[in-house]
Amino acid sequence: MRKDLLKLAAGAAALAVSLSALSAHAAPGNGNGVVVSVAPEKTSLGKSDDVVVKVTFTNTSGSPQYVLKSRTPFEEIEAPLFEITRDGQPVRYLGAIAKRGAPTAADYFLLKPGASYTAKVELSALYDMATTGDYAIRYRIGNGSGKAGDELKSEAATVWIDGVRPRGSNEETRSLAEMQAQAGMVTAAGGALSFNKCTASQQADITTAVSSALAMATDGDAYMAKGTMGTRYTKWFGAVDSARVATVKSHFAAIKDAFATKPITVDCGCKKTYYAYVYPTQPYTIHVCKAFWSAPMTGTDSKGGTLVHEMSHFNVVAGTDDWVYGQSGAASLAVSNPSQAIDNADSHEYFGENTPALQ
Ligand SMILES: [Zn+2]
Repeated sequence: MRKDLLKLAAGAAALAVSLSALSAHAAPGNGNGVVVSVAPEKTSLGKSDDVVVKVTFTNTSGSPQYVLKSRTPFEEIEAPLFEITRDGQPVRYLGAIAKRGAPTAADYFLLKPGASYTAKVELSALYDMATTGDYAIRYRIGNGSGKAGDELKSEAATVWIDGVRPRGSNEETRSLAEMQAQAGMVTAAGGALSFNKCTASQQADITTAVSSALAMATDGDAYMAKGTMGTRYTKWFGAVDSARVATVKSHFAAIKDAFATKPITVDCGCKKTYYAYVYPTQPYTIHVCKAFWSAPMTGTDSKGGTLVHEMSHFNVVAGTDDWVYGQSGAASLAVSNPSQAIDNADSHEYFGENTPALQ
């Protein structure tokens, strides 16, 4: 075995071939002496707790072992590496499944003899863990050979989760009103909210942010409906003109309606430094990025306001563009070009956030 592995350094093609030969000769199920364990950071979790486990790979053999990186938690997880059950029922994997080419030498992780390697993995963004129950979490993945028995498998760790959905329920999306009621918020919302790649704590933040966005849109809609345009309107949308006022009024009615009644999906997979993005032709999916997470919940450039901004972009809502970004740019645009201001997403955000408050 050791001889084979030394020879492997010669070339990537040789590595792939020799490793599969090696797998074929391995004793079934023992991973060539590689032992995997899973240890939860907490064994009892609440609704907005992230589910973090430490996964440790230990090479208990006397020789170096190679494991496909894509089958370890040591890089971004793009395969269902865990087998998770809730009250004995399988839990759905929500994460990515990457299509990969044949492995090369660089695709293998080296485990030195006797060495242990640990990675922390957050599971609630990867698996549907929103339902209350007893969870059993096991690391279980084939080694890439495609042969039965050639798998890495840990003992099961157990955690109790007091989730946002009652025990025994299997709904994949919850009504926004239901979640807001659970979070102690009062609203007339009837839309549904679902998540993609969001952890439990992110889901909790987003639920509050959507509620804030709905409150801003409802307030903006009520302001436009009363028909008297004050400084709050002129600051962000410029001189009062009946056609433009009617357009802004229709925008806020549509933004409010979308937050209140449409099925909204928030995707947390974006790692860009900006706030968020959408595809205007794909309502009502909003991708939130890094700046979103550090923003306050309400007020200028907040989480709630960001969602108002993004919602205004959808063609079926208000079809806005990004003519300018930022408060000073939006205020200048209102003076210089009111027609663009009423088509500018940030202008809608700042009118909705209304911070500092204008009448
Ligand atoms: Zn935008």
